[in-house]
Formats: sequence, structure tokens, C-alpha cells
Amino acid sequence: MGIELASAARVAPLEKAVPVVTTYCSHSSLQIFHGARAEGLGTLGIAVGKPPRYYEAFPLARPDRFLSLGALADLGEHAADLRREGAVVVPTGSFVEYMGPERFDALDVPIFGNRKVMAWESDREKEREWLERAGVPMPRKYADLSAVDGPVIIKYYGAKGGKGFYLAKKREELDQFQPTGPYVIQEYVVGTRYYVHMFYSPLSQDGYRVRHGSIELLGMDRRDEANIDELYKLGAQEGLRRAGIRPTFVVTGNVPVVLRESLLPQVLDIGARIVDTSVDLFGGMVGPFCVEGIVTEDLSFKVFEISTRIVAGTNLFVSGSSYSDYVAPQLSTGRRIALEIQRARSEGRLREVLS
Ligand code: AMP
Repeated sequence: MGIELASAARVAPLEKAVPVVTTYCSHSSLQIFHGARAEGLGTLGIAVGKPPRYYEAFPLARPDRFLSLGALADLGEHAADLRREGAVVVPTGSFVEYMGPERFDALDVPIFGNRKVMAWESDREKEREWLERAGVPMPRKYADLSAVDGPVIIKYYGAKGGKGFYLAKKREELDQFQPTGPYVIQEYVVGTRYYVHMFYSPLSQDGYRVRHGSIELLGMDRRDEANIDELYKLGAQEGLRRAGIRPTFVVTGNVPVVLRESLLPQVLDIGARIVDTSVDLFGGMVGPFCVEGIVTEDLSFKVFEISTRIVAGTNLFVSGSSYSDYVAPQLSTGRRIALEIQRARSEGRLREVLS
């Protein structure tokens, strides 16, 4: 028996009822519902206001039912009903962000994955501590502005979408920097970005083993980020700054990528270290996660961020990816979540994958 994340009381109703995969109507919900339906699970969409019409265009990914709320913050009021109905809540970036991590954490409904991960992901210092302990190569961190001796990216805490980031090529360019909140100064890594979609199963004994269970590589993407990705078309940065244009990293879409095959050992080793360390730190990051890094010209993969739940880049691979096809046919991350819930239920191990 592995590490138990949830109490028996919390998962008890799920041992009898068909689990109802429940998520917020946005982000990767089409894929999550589609995968749950494929595995014979129920589906429930959480909507703010009227159920969104876009599901009508995608009948195979439409949830069976909707729960309409005035605001996501009100979801906790429905916890008892959701538990009774066998809901398993699947977190996504939008769900946690719009509801608020504290409220999400307090939700008394089984969540797929370990809710303790939120505290480690939302604080950039804690996330770094986790990755450093894992021995994962990361961009250098500068203690303060005066220590800067090369290109840097300055990130605010929780600045989702990268809107408030500040870039500087050298120390002098930081004279104009006026912080508006707590921030970290990171080496700006020059290379190519990869967002690697992984899945950690504490139940599985097959495939790429980690200390408790195994990890799978299900896909990979690169994010399209406005306006930085197209900024070069307007010319060099000084000119842009003079024109009042500041670079931003707001995600607008995703494109599929594959890595040089010779880099896969490095990336799988990084994934395994992150998972093993998460077990030591807080009982383990269960389910989908994304290792986000930059490959430099000397072919080293530097991790600048991890997302500890399903990322929207997985939406590219609804019928499988160049990697998941070697794991199982037609394996989206959404379907992988449903398979894990089904397996845990049939083996009486729901407490190891729900919290
Ligand atoms: P983050 O909020 O850490 O995910 O960063 C948002 C975006 O900023 C990433 O998707 C990258 O495009 C860029 N970025 C983050 N960290 C670095 C870094 N150390 N060097 C270069 N680009 C970075």
C-alpha cells in the first residue's frame, strides 16, 4: 500500500457510486470530459452563470450535467451535494486561479491529486526549494539587483500569464525598474522552450519507475506568448522601450513540438527527481504535471517552472501524441486521469490518488 492522501471518510461515497469527473468549464475541460466519457465515468461542468454554449459544438466532450454558480467562490456551499453524487474534482490552472488557491484547498470534495502541492507551486521560493532539492538544473537566481551580471527576467509572485515580467539585458537597464510587489530575479536563459507533459501514477508498477510508482511522458508543446513571440518583428528592444512597448508573456495558444530523442533521458530523469522529491516533501504530486524548461545550445535542459496539474498544452493531443502513442493508443491526459481514477477504484486505492 502506498501513501494515503485522503481520509477514508472523504472517499467512501466514491467506492459505491460511479465517479463523476467534475471541473470548471474552461482551460482543458473538453479534454477532461472527453476522456472521462471514454472511460465510462460521469461528468459535471461547473459554470459561472449560464452553461457555456460552446459545448454544443463538441457533443463528445460535453458534460452530462452542469452546476451553475453566481461565482466560483460559492462552490464550497455545494460540497455536501457534490460528495453525495460521487464528484471527483479535477483542478486546472483557471479553476484554481479564479476560485483562489485557499478556497480551492478548503473544498471538502475529493480532488484528483494531492492538494498539498498548491502551497509548493504558488510560492516561487518554495517551488525553487523543491527543484533545488531534486537536483534539477535551473536558471541562476540573483539575490538582489546589484548582483546582476547578465540578462535577467524579473518575475512577480503569482504573476500568472507573465504580464508584469521585466526583462533586462544588463545591470544598467535595471535602473528604471520599479517593483510593484515581491519578485524574483532569474537569469534569462537563451535557448529553446519546451513544455513537457508528464503523468505520475503512484499505482503503476510498469514503465519508467520512480520510487513509488512510475511516470509517463504524454506530450510536449511550446506556448505562443504575446507579445514577446512576435516582438522581434518590430525591431530591437531599446527602440521598443522608447516607444513604450514592454514585452509580456501572455499565453495565447500552443504548438506541438518534439525534443531531440537524445534529450529524452535528461527530461525523464528530471521528471523522476521532481516526483521523488515531492514524495519526501509533501506525500507526492499525483497525476498530470508539466516540466517547463529551456534547452541551451550545449543541450542542457534548465527548468524555469513546473505546473503541478493538467496544462492547457495537453489540449493538442486529444487522440494521442508523438509520445503517448508509445504508451497506449488514443491516450490524452484527460483520459489518463479517468483511467487512474478507475484503476484506483477497482483496486480499492482511491485514497492514494485523491485528497
Ligand atoms: P513562468 O511564469 O515562470 O512560467 O514564465 C513565463 C514565461 O516567461 C515562460 O513561458 C518563458 O517564455 C519565459 N521565461 C520564464 N523564465 C525564463 C528564463 N529564466 N529565461 C528565459 N525565459 C523565461
